[in-house]
Amino acid sequence: MEHIYDTVILGGGPAGYSAALYCARGGLDTLIIEKISPGGQMALTGDIDNYPGFDEGVDGFTLGMKMQKGAERFGAATEYAEVTSVSLSEGIKKVETSQGTFFAKTVIIATGAKPRRLGLDHEDELTGRGVHYCAHCDGRFYKDKTVAVVGGGNSAVQDSLYLSRLAKKVYVIHRRDTLRGERIHHEPLMRAENVEFIWNSTVSLLDFEKRLTAVTVKNKISNEERKIELDGLFVSIGREPESALFADELSLDENGYIIADETTKTSLEGVFAAGDVRTKRLRQVVTAAADGAVSAHLAEEYIQGLTSDLSLPQITPAI
Ligand code: NAP
Repeated sequence: MEHIYDTVILGGGPAGYSAALYCARGGLDTLIIEKISPGGQMALTGDIDNYPGFDEGVDGFTLGMKMQKGAERFGAATEYAEVTSVSLSEGIKKVETSQGTFFAKTVIIATGAKPRRLGLDHEDELTGRGVHYCAHCDGRFYKDKTVAVVGGGNSAVQDSLYLSRLAKKVYVIHRRDTLRGERIHHEPLMRAENVEFIWNSTVSLLDFEKRLTAVTVKNKISNEERKIELDGLFVSIGREPESALFADELSLDENGYIIADETTKTSLEGVFAAGDVRTKRLRQVVTAAADGAVSAHLAEEYIQGLTSDLSLPQITPAI
C-alpha cells in the first residue's frame, strides 16, 4: 500500500518551511521536497535585515537552516529530490520526483522564483565563467577586479553596494535614468567612489575567450555602443516564478505566477500556492513565511472536510 501524506510541500524556502512548521505542529503527516538546500533563493542572500526577530540581521543560509530545524522539531520530513511531474486534479495528488513518487491529500506549492536571465547569446555557457546571478555567492571571486551589475531595482542596488566593497570598480548598467526601489539603499551607492552608473543602457553583447572579457553596452536614446572590459557581470534584473510544472493544471497569470490570493487557494481543490510563486504585491521573506502559515491552515481545514473514499491515482510503473 502506498503511503499517503496529509500534505506534500514543494520547495524548502521560507514559504515551504513555514507551511511545514504549521502543518507538522498541527499534527499533519508532512513531507517537504526540496531540490538543493533549505532556504531556497533566500539561502543565496547575504544579509537579511527586514525579517523580524533578528536585531543584528541574519544571513539567508542560516535562516533557511533554522526554518528547517524548526519544522523538523515537530516531525516534518525533508526529501532532497527534483520534482519531475505532478498530477493534482484528483482527490489524491501525485508528485513524481528524481527519488520516487509521493502521494498526498493536499499539495502546497512553494517553489519560489529564479533569477531572470538577459537572454543574450552565450549567456548560458558563460554562466559561472564571468556571468553570475548572485553577488553574495560569487562576488568574492572579484576582489580588486572590475565588474558590472545589470538592473536598477533593490536587488541590483544592494548587489552593487556589496560588490563596491570588494571590487576595484563597479559599473551599474540600467535601462532607465533612475533607480527604482527603496531610497534608503540608493544613497550609499551614490556615494561610493568606485561606482559608475551607465544610464538608459542595456547589454547587447557578451565578449569572451575562455570566460567573459567584456560587454558591449548600448545607449537606448543615442543608440551609441560602448565596449567595457570586465572581469565579471552580475545580472540582477528580477526573478521568474518556478511554475512551469503546474501550467497544465493550474491557472497562471501572464507572467507565469500561480493565481492565488491571500488564502493561497489555487484553481484546484486541495492545492495551495505560497510565497513568491503566487500572484502577490510584495515578495519578501516575511510575506512568504506568512503565506506558508495560511496555506497550512487551509490545508488542514480542507483535510478535515475530506471524505475517506479517496483512491490513489494511477501509479507509473518503475522502469
Ligand atoms: P525588480 O524590483 O523587479 O527590479 C528589476 C530591475 O531589473 C528593474 O530595474 C528592471 O528595469 C530591470 N530589468 C528587468 N528586466 C530587464 C532586462 N531584460 N534587461 C535589463 N534590465 C531589466 O527586481 P529585484 O530588484 O530583484 O527585486 C525583487 C523584489 O524583491 C522587489 O519587490 C524588491 O523590492 C524586493 N527586494 C527587497 C529588498 C530589501 O532589502 N527590501 C532587497 C532586494 C529585493 P525597469 O526598472 O525598467 O523595470
